[in-house]
Amino acid sequence: MQAKELLEKIKYCDSLTSYSRRKTIPVRVGDVIIGGDNPIVVQSMTTVDTMDTQGSVEQCIRMIESGCQLIRITAPSIKEAENLQNIRNELRKRGYNTPLVADIHFTPNAAEVAARIVEKVRINPGNYADKKKFEIIEYTDQSYQEELERIRERFLPLVKICKEHGTAMRIGTNHGSLSDRIMSRYGDTPLGMVESALEFLRICEDENFHDIVISMKSSNTQVMVQAYRLLVQKLDEGGFKPYPLHLGVTEAGDGEDGRIKSAVGIGTLLEDGLGDTVRVSLTEDPEFESPVAKTLVDRYLGRENHAPIPAITHYPITPFEHNKRDSIEVFNFGGTNVPRVITDISAVAHITEKEMKNLGHFYLPELDKWKMNDQGADYVFSGDHPIPFMLPNGMKEIQYYNHWLAAEDRNNKFPAFTLSEFKLAEEFHYGLNFLFLSDVEVEEALPFIEGRHDVVIILHSDNAHNMAALRRAFVQLMENHSQIPVVVKVDYPAQTQDKTMLYAATDVGGLLVDGLGEGIMIGLEAYREAPREVLLEQVKLHNSVSFGVLQAARTRMSKTEYISCPSCGRTLFDLQETTAMIRKRTDHLKGVKIGIMGCIVNGPGEMADADYGYVGSGKGKITLYKGKEVVKRSVASEKAVDELIEIIRKDGMWIEPGERLEV
Ligand code: SF4
Repeated sequence: MQAKELLEKIKYCDSLTSYSRRKTIPVRVGDVIIGGDNPIVVQSMTTVDTMDTQGSVEQCIRMIESGCQLIRITAPSIKEAENLQNIRNELRKRGYNTPLVADIHFTPNAAEVAARIVEKVRINPGNYADKKKFEIIEYTDQSYQEELERIRERFLPLVKICKEHGTAMRIGTNHGSLSDRIMSRYGDTPLGMVESALEFLRICEDENFHDIVISMKSSNTQVMVQAYRLLVQKLDEGGFKPYPLHLGVTEAGDGEDGRIKSAVGIGTLLEDGLGDTVRVSLTEDPEFESPVAKTLVDRYLGRENHAPIPAITHYPITPFEHNKRDSIEVFNFGGTNVPRVITDISAVAHITEKEMKNLGHFYLPELDKWKMNDQGADYVFSGDHPIPFMLPNGMKEIQYYNHWLAAEDRNNKFPAFTLSEFKLAEEFHYGLNFLFLSDVEVEEALPFIEGRHDVVIILHSDNAHNMAALRRAFVQLMENHSQIPVVVKVDYPAQTQDKTMLYAATDVGGLLVDGLGEGIMIGLEAYREAPREVLLEQVKLHNSVSFGVLQAARTRMSKTEYISCPSCGRTLFDLQETTAMIRKRTDHLKGVKIGIMGCIVNGPGEMADADYGYVGSGKGKITLYKGKEVVKRSVASEKAVDELIEIIRKDGMWIEPGERLEV
């Protein structure tokens, strides 16, 4: 499809260059309204057993006090659905009016009970009327139609109850739990996810029921972003109402990884004005989720006042599938190389060998050698503080141009130019020169970089609508057929570590998801005056966040990926403790994806593309998977981690922990 034609067909957001929130219909959920002109709603989910009324109430209160505006509680069967009444009554008695959402999988009868009690019901279209058998069945048009009729029969009673009781509904598709019917026709694709929701939405619309919110979650950020975009597009093309969107990345994990992964998925969509309610799912206590969601959504308050960004008239980026921008290879940037990490230490004077550990490189004085871990920075930007010792082989130094001119070893260090220096320069490195360029300088720079095979751009923007401004600059380069590799540089004021993590994941991750960027650099300028330990702490954060963002956007795997569920009332073991234990034993298995799921009902489906799975299948019992295949059933939990390692070992994917350090 021609670029212009594609741009005309892009309806997934109002504008690619001017921030504006997608206009949706308002959906009332008790006292909270999702969509319309209302602020984005933050929500979360309990982890306590739903039958534990007091425990659930106490947890709900902790969640509300941490900023949660809507609380979801699992209702695996009728008895839990009924107990929602007790939880709700107790909360109201204690003065909390926060609306409740029942989370339903597989059990229409529980949904029908819950819909009479709580303000909203979430159904998963992949398993509301279907049992997952992982079977590929050949459907004729007629048998497919008969299946849809069967769904209608199963689903209609719930729609009627919701209408009668003023209960809202979320049609919540999960990438990992699509029905066999959808899988057989569309595969586990973004289109399959969208169609899965539309099957149910059509039934609601036929019944004139519109109190609906839709979600398209996946633990794969690329798939998740594409599915939401495609959903909006299909709603528009299909003449559906603009229903509000619930954003979330499933099984994001915990700690820094979980936050970064959530921000890459959720932030990317928020940047384009999509999203009316957000749930960040972390394998942590649920009261830690809302503050993260709030940090993500608060970033857009007043965003529409950003400096103008020139409109895009041709759009060479494919928003519904991942295609990498073509770039030439310059040293180890661009081409088929993984994106590189440049760690900025320019504000640190006289850095020592020992302090390089903050960049993932460890000096061993007794051997006078270096070791590097999986997050050893590829390049270090020393600015005007040249590094006073010899660097390890795995790392190269970039200096400001005027310092590089004065350097003794100009072959092994690389110059970084401003545009004015670049235009006037008479001396260049023979093979690799960095050019700092802001988005508004791209046009001016084009004649000077044309045909160069020794330049890497370090692109930044001062625009408050940062990601869109950078994306616009990429489009400008692409329109001008420039294939020079581009490292994306982001700068933030001195702020909390969480903010830096979430903002960088949004701004750079959003570009990487669209195939843009051959590297990442997080600026240190705001910390220039900070005490040394703060500076070094910040360097360490920027370095690990950089690798985290590349991994979360699925562009460079440098560590083990944990696809762990946030846990809920169905969970059969302590997920946080177990995740920590599995992480401790396996976190050196670079690029291996391990699913850690609380229950066998949803776990196997939801761990999506994990290489190995650890799934609770009964009290004290674990079932272990290789991909989607069960390898061992009902292993005693005390032995399960050892057994998991054994499976990985037999599969040839195990290495001993010490092996990850390379001299
Ligand atoms: S996989 Fe985890 S979060 Fe999902 S239903 Fe099971 S226990 Fe709950």
